Amino acid sequence: MTDDERRSRIAHWLPAALLARRAYQVQPAAGMVKLDAMENPYPWPAALMDEWLACLGQVSVNRYPDAAAVALKLALREALHVPQNVSMVLGNGSDELIQLLAIAFAGRQRAVVAPQPSFVLYRMAAEALGMRYVGVPLGEDFALDGGAVLEAIERDAPALVFIAYPNNPTGNLFDAAQIRAIIRAAPGLVVLDEAYHAFAARSFLDEVADHPNLVVLRTLSKIGFAGLRLGVLLAHPDWSGEFEKLRLPYNINSLTQASAAFALRHMTAFDEQADRICTAREQLRAALEKLPGLRVYPSAANFLLVRTPPSLGNLHGALRERGVLVKDLHGASPTTEHCLRISVGTAAENAALVRALATLLDGA
Ligand SMILES: *Cc1c(COP(=O)(O)O)cnc(C)c1O
Repeated sequence: MTDDERRSRIAHWLPAALLARRAYQVQPAAGMVKLDAMENPYPWPAALMDEWLACLGQVSVNRYPDAAAVALKLALREALHVPQNVSMVLGNGSDELIQLLAIAFAGRQRAVVAPQPSFVLYRMAAEALGMRYVGVPLGEDFALDGGAVLEAIERDAPALVFIAYPNNPTGNLFDAAQIRAIIRAAPGLVVLDEAYHAFAARSFLDEVADHPNLVVLRTLSKIGFAGLRLGVLLAHPDWSGEFEKLRLPYNINSLTQASAAFALRHMTAFDEQADRICTAREQLRAALEKLPGLRVYPSAANFLLVRTPPSLGNLHGALRERGVLVKDLHGASPTTEHCLRISVGTAAENAALVRALATLLDGA
């Protein structure tokens, strides 16, 4: 009886759209070669460990964190070369900032536009707030279809346009001139999500001041600090001042503030890791291109999108049985059938993946 009562309250009070959704899925990874989440595979340089732990020892966890994160913001400003007149809003990962933007712009009749396929959280955040999500299919070889996005802007007058640069899950950088045309045409805000900036070396950060409606997102996750959860929204103070009103006051915990500020002061060590990842990415590409039947797409990120032969069925499950975890994109969008997204790992992890794939392709 109480089960029924509980369920009927849930069905009565929660929106039908929420009840119909699925929670964000994360695959169990214990003991696996983990190439599914675009993490930096390298641990912190040993030389930094003692100093970092000493730094953590100074944190008073009995106190609330610095709500304004002053020291961390200073370190970020320097490390990210944040231009004058651009200010920062910090998030518990850039995921939280995407949600914060959706909350700020939410409205029943409002649309959110993004290329398709792209980062799944744009849709999740928009739909959770009852906004209409409009995915605009990418063109040939996952290039941005600028004309189609401009048409969607004309038709749907979106409150928000999200563009990941480079794009996830495809790995490519969209044409910058097309993006600028989209920024000029969009009636609302355009969010350039530069989660993979460290591997792409291209950015719209210096153009934030040129447009009334452009903000940039960055994250520390992909460069080695996924566990810290720190994202940064970079915007004109007029925009960020409004977003600050929605940010939960203590969303960046003290251990993260101390760790990230410390790491940012030692960025050269992590920049070197990013360079190693880019080199390893091209080595992995070369190894995969030697295998029969694989199509490897160009990437400016720390992962590769690979299309496998349809005749082999779903290789994601077969790889998992062999201890290698990658992201399955089959069914995620019509243009990514039989596609896998493979994060660049250590040399040993990449070799394990190539061996497992070689066996599966050989057995065809
Ligand atoms: C990984 C990713 C994020 C989320 O990063 P967090 O800061 O870890 O929340 C945001 N945008 C894109 C495009 C990503 O791939």
